[in-house]
Amino acid sequence: MSAALPSYDEAAAMVLIRAARLGKVQPGIEQVRLASAAGRELAKAVQADQDQPPFARSTRDGFACRAADASKHIPLNLVGAARAGDAPAGPLPKGAAWEIMTGAPVPAGADAVVMIEHVEVEGNQVRLLPPRKLKRGENIVAKGAQAGKGDKLLPAGTVIGSAQIALAATCGYSKLDVFARPRVAILTTGDELVAVDATPAPGQIRNSNAPMLAAMVAAAGGEPWVLPAAADNAKALDRALAKASKADMLILSGGVSAGKFDLVEPALARLRARFHFTGVRIQPGKPLVFGELRRSSIPAQGVRRKQCFFGLPGNPVSSAVTFLLFAAPVIAALAGRRECGPRFALARLAADLDKHGKPGLTRFLPASCTFGQEGTTPGVKLVPWQGSGDIAAMARSNCFLVVPEETSSLEAGAIVRILLT
Ligand code: AMP
Ligand code: MG
Repeated sequence: MSAALPSYDEAAAMVLIRAARLGKVQPGIEQVRLASAAGRELAKAVQADQDQPPFARSTRDGFACRAADASKHIPLNLVGAARAGDAPAGPLPKGAAWEIMTGAPVPAGADAVVMIEHVEVEGNQVRLLPPRKLKRGENIVAKGAQAGKGDKLLPAGTVIGSAQIALAATCGYSKLDVFARPRVAILTTGDELVAVDATPAPGQIRNSNAPMLAAMVAAAGGEPWVLPAAADNAKALDRALAKASKADMLILSGGVSAGKFDLVEPALARLRARFHFTGVRIQPGKPLVFGELRRSSIPAQGVRRKQCFFGLPGNPVSSAVTFLLFAAPVIAALAGRRECGPRFALARLAADLDKHGKPGLTRFLPASCTFGQEGTTPGVKLVPWQGSGDIAAMARSNCFLVVPEETSSLEAGAIVRILLT
């Protein structure tokens, strides 16, 4: 049966094709204040309203001068001082220097700034200490060196983070045009689920997937819409799916395995869903379902005719892995993001790994990666876990180690792929 299922690569390619198609419809545009823009997607390019920097700027505390004068090591007369915030001054006479602070405009005529640590000051004169020389342009950022007035600095579709906020602020944007978020319905299923604030009776468990998936939807660029959990019966599922039809996209959790009470696929089939795949050769997450529903009612303007859905296996690690690999890229595309695919990186395996588990499946194992040691490849090690229900192990991990389908074991020191969370 496994052989008929797509491999990870094949399934990922199918999803990316659909995502690209969905991404062609431009989302609506809304305005947000700059301070609330983090995590959103730019709907219009950010442009420089003036040169950056707007004036030749000193990067050091020291003395503005002509490099050729200073390099002769003769005393230069101090004829002025510039602090950050002063208007550009000058001109600088020949053989003179101008005291200057970091961030201040360089006076006209000066072509370099000598650092305060590299001079000797005597009375009203300053001299570059030999044997040091000064090059033209040293410690100065020229006007417009970072950006020219009118330059497009960030294209539409850029995800806004702190650096983009800083740039927009510098260019005078107090508000930004961003894409409207796609509304993503989250429908968890299972008779065993109780609300987070309830005390589970014997045999019951708290619904942890709903808040987990809501957080993941938001991180991917969507607006989560958490529906009440549905019981494992046809009527409850039909009712919940009817409600969810108002969303741009649908994420289901649970009920997609081969068990007697796995009723999600039949419920979707009753709505004449088109299934792109019903299973992928991965572990965890093999029963993953991907497809689309055609809306019966006439959609409002801007609403898509098709609603893409994922049926994620209910085990929390399976849900998380399949969401990251397949659902997040589609949400990102609906949100108008320029870059949509899952993020992989390379790391060095810290300990030998025997591939336990079924052959023929690409595995994604909760792992812990240490970043940040300069000059070294990040190191990764598996987090011990008790299978795909082990939320505690997942919460101790910060990535998933990718074990390719054909790999049976990996040795310590091997360079491996990791899926970033
Ligand atoms: P299923 O995919 O419906 O067969 O679910 C597999 C297992 O995942 C269940 O037995 C539960 O233990 C767990 N599970 C399913 N849904 C959730 C959920 N919403 N939150 C936490 N665990 C869940
Ligand atoms: Mg279930």
